[in-house]
Amino acid sequence: MNECIFCKIINKEIPSEIVYEDELILAFNDIEAKAPTHILVIPKKHIPSLNDLKEEDSKIISHIFSIIPKVAEKNGINKSGYRVVNNCGKDGGQTVDHIHFHVLGGRNLTWPPG
Ligand code: 5GP
Ligand code: ZN
Repeated sequence: MNECIFCKIINKEIPSEIVYEDELILAFNDIEAKAPTHILVIPKKHIPSLNDLKEEDSKIISHIFSIIPKVAEKNGINKSGYRVVNNCGKDGGQTVDHIHFHVLGGRNLTWPPG
């Protein structure tokens, strides 16, 4: 049985605020928003982390990056700007082992991050 929390969100076993969905990917609001807009974009395929990406996944990843600007526009942050983040592994701050891209915006984001 798949215990992955993001797979459960994909399968609608756990509710989420979905902002975009198609056959390959899902985007939904982060439950603990770190900015006025904080969306997670994930592939429907369970890929644990960036370290596990295979060449054959390149279509999924390029699709994710083609949809992110559209999601940003729909949420009104494409002109003001936004940040896309992937946390990989323990030191990278990854807490959910299903690859995901954070889309953060709606305020001035500091750089570098802590
Ligand atoms: P990470 O720390 O792995 O880069 O990011 C995981 C993100 O998933 C965190 O920002 C966390 O708030 C979010 N998250 C964890 N569990 C859930 C959940 O059940 N629903 C939603 N919408 N977000 C979640
Ligand atoms: Zn998963």
